[in-house]
Amino acid sequence: MARGIINQQAQIAVRLMTWDETEAIDDGLWARRIRAAIARRAVDPGLRETNARRLIFGESDGLPGLIADDYAGHIVLHLSTLAAGNAHDVIVDTLDAALKPVCIIERDDDERMRHERPGSKPMGPAFAVARGTAPDAPVEFREGGLTFQVDLRSGQKTGFYLDQRDNRARVARYCAGASVLNAFSFTGAFAAHALAAGAAHVTNLDSSADALKLAETALAANGFAGRSTQVQADAFEQLRAWRMAGERFDVVILDPPKFAHNTGQIDRAARAYKDLNRIGMALVKPGGVLVTFSCSGVIDAGLFQKILFSASLEAGREAQVVERLTQASDHPVLLTFPESEYLKGLICRVT
Ligand code: SAH
Repeated sequence: MARGIINQQAQIAVRLMTWDETEAIDDGLWARRIRAAIARRAVDPGLRETNARRLIFGESDGLPGLIADDYAGHIVLHLSTLAAGNAHDVIVDTLDAALKPVCIIERDDDERMRHERPGSKPMGPAFAVARGTAPDAPVEFREGGLTFQVDLRSGQKTGFYLDQRDNRARVARYCAGASVLNAFSFTGAFAAHALAAGAAHVTNLDSSADALKLAETALAANGFAGRSTQVQADAFEQLRAWRMAGERFDVVILDPPKFAHNTGQIDRAARAYKDLNRIGMALVKPGGVLVTFSCSGVIDAGLFQKILFSASLEAGREAQVVERLTQASDHPVLLTFPESEYLKGLICRVT
């Protein structure tokens, strides 16, 4: 039926590489797939307003174990399977030849590697330069008329959540004149778009002091100094405190990290999403908007909507779904690999 790569120690035993039983899995296949992924991005209308994009999205681009992001010509690679690790040289050579990037950086992905080789150490160093010279300073890039910076050496994940690109623009449309709570703000990307759309004030809330510092810098660089507040706290605790204090916002954004990493964690994660959304909803002014995301792939859109329903019942608030959001086009969903669909969001009008 298909050809793939077997790793008997891995949580995912077989990674399919081709549905053509005669096609060899060799350097030529890796190179062809990489060039095809790059060619698709080049004609993607969703990427015209930015020079930061996911070039290769693993299985969805026929390249299991390989993620590559491009920030203004600086490529960041994540190799997360042994097979992708073995193809390292052809991956780097092909990207280099096709894009002539400023540099190609590799970042090791501990969490994924543990699934690939239980009990193992990371495959390589946490950070390595495969081609060119890595900049010491953060790299600047554009997204929809705004500028952002990514620290390629210490950024979380690959440093910037490209998958939320379209959603930032969608959400911003609700923010003119609004007081906005941006919970799990990371470096304030939602905040920047909200302020560009005329938000009166944004409160960024995150547990990471480093992320909030970058948020403050990014907002000032875009001309929004003095229009935001950064709050470093645990979101669950802080949202509860605000609810008790009677604090309310026109728009509340909830973009938490992944709560469920596998099917065994669904129940616990569902409770956490329900609690978070119950408190988040309580903070929305009547007639205001709740924007809520889940990036847990094992929680599908149907279940997520049911969780929101439970949250609204417990909060005693009625809510209408007015928009459904998903991951950006450079994180495509391959029909033969529906597991690649992971990000879902709901924009709800809360009465
Ligand atoms: N909305 C962001 C991405 C959010 S990533 C964007 O568009 O760029 C998730 C963020 O949640 C991270 O920045 C992480 O530091 C933060 N976080 C994780 N657990 C948290 C908690 N319990 N309380 C507050 N922030 C938390």
